[in-house]
Amino acid sequence: MHRVVLIPGDGIGPSISEVAVHVIDAAGVKIEWIPVEAGMAAIDKYKDPLPQHVIDEISSTRLALKGPLTTPVGSGFRSVNVALRKEFDLYSNLRPARSFEGVPSRYTNIDLLIVRENTEEFYAGIEHYIDPQRSAAETIGVVTRSGSDRIIRYAYEYARSHGRKKVTTVHKANILKYTGGLFLEVARTIAQEYPDIASDDKIVDNMAMQMVVNPNQFDVIVTTNLFGDILSDLASGLVGGLGLAPGGNIGYDAAIFEAVHGSAPDIAGKNIANPTAIILAGVMMLRHLKEEDAANRIERAVEEVIKEGKAVTADLKPAKPVGTKEMGEAIIDKLRV
Ligand code: NAD
Repeated sequence: MHRVVLIPGDGIGPSISEVAVHVIDAAGVKIEWIPVEAGMAAIDKYKDPLPQHVIDEISSTRLALKGPLTTPVGSGFRSVNVALRKEFDLYSNLRPARSFEGVPSRYTNIDLLIVRENTEEFYAGIEHYIDPQRSAAETIGVVTRSGSDRIIRYAYEYARSHGRKKVTTVHKANILKYTGGLFLEVARTIAQEYPDIASDDKIVDNMAMQMVVNPNQFDVIVTTNLFGDILSDLASGLVGGLGLAPGGNIGYDAAIFEAVHGSAPDIAGKNIANPTAIILAGVMMLRHLKEEDAANRIERAVEEVIKEGKAVTADLKPAKPVGTKEMGEAIIDKLRV
């Protein structure tokens, strides 16, 4: 029996998380789910977006499946997502983007993995207004040699152990000569230790253009925190949208799996959100737990439902869309076959 903390999340979070739990349970994996609230739901209940008992539960299980959490824009409390990554030193954010047969999208056969540094740089929370009149503000992005070393090494080790052929380091070292320069210097040094993996590096603006024009030239992409966040949304757009993009936040001894997307307030409460991203985050979690068989069966069930196109949500542009719950039921039906 595995023990997993479940954070349902805000906005569309509770509805897609519920579907993910049903799908994982239907695959026959024995999981004791420990539901806790964080984000807006916790503010309403505990006046704290990240109550201590949530941290205590994850400290005990070292594993969580998390729905998206709303972060107020431009003011208010700091991101609970970022706080959790810092608290458990989840330094590696894995964000795969792959094509699904049956999804109308610009490209086919895309299979990219973004490895995003998850604890440093502009997400470290070192920022302030310089005076009470708020005439200027500054955010300090700290990049360390050790932080760069561990994430770049993670990307190469992942590439080697998963049969990937190439690692592309993305940076802005032409302008950010120190932070970007340090990251790139470490990447070029580590690349020499992996002669079996092709290596290259790209400036982030060129990278964005290259990904849109010819994404199949890339394989594993490793980059700093902010660029990784932006490029992973871009990558999801190449394969059919955020509804299909899962992610894992991995540390030395803890991990939190979640969708790449946010709480989608524009579609919350309407039973129209695509549950695929969080289900696939669950698949990543099962692989982390070495539950390969269940992970493969769920992945195949999702692929079949999407390919048939009869029981998918509106974002995948079917002739007749179904709701979040109904798509989940169709996936569970495939598991039972
Ligand atoms: P978003 O990812 O929530 O939504 C962007 C667009 O994608 C919206 O049009 C939305 O309807 C659509 N979308 C997202 N998920 C979808 C799904 N499963 N099915 C169908 N369509 C989907 O981004 P946003 O609107 O910029 O952010 C909303 C909130 O989410 C903010 O408070 C932000 O801070 C937070 N956020 C949280 C996380 C996280 O919890 N890891 C990640 C990103 C954003």
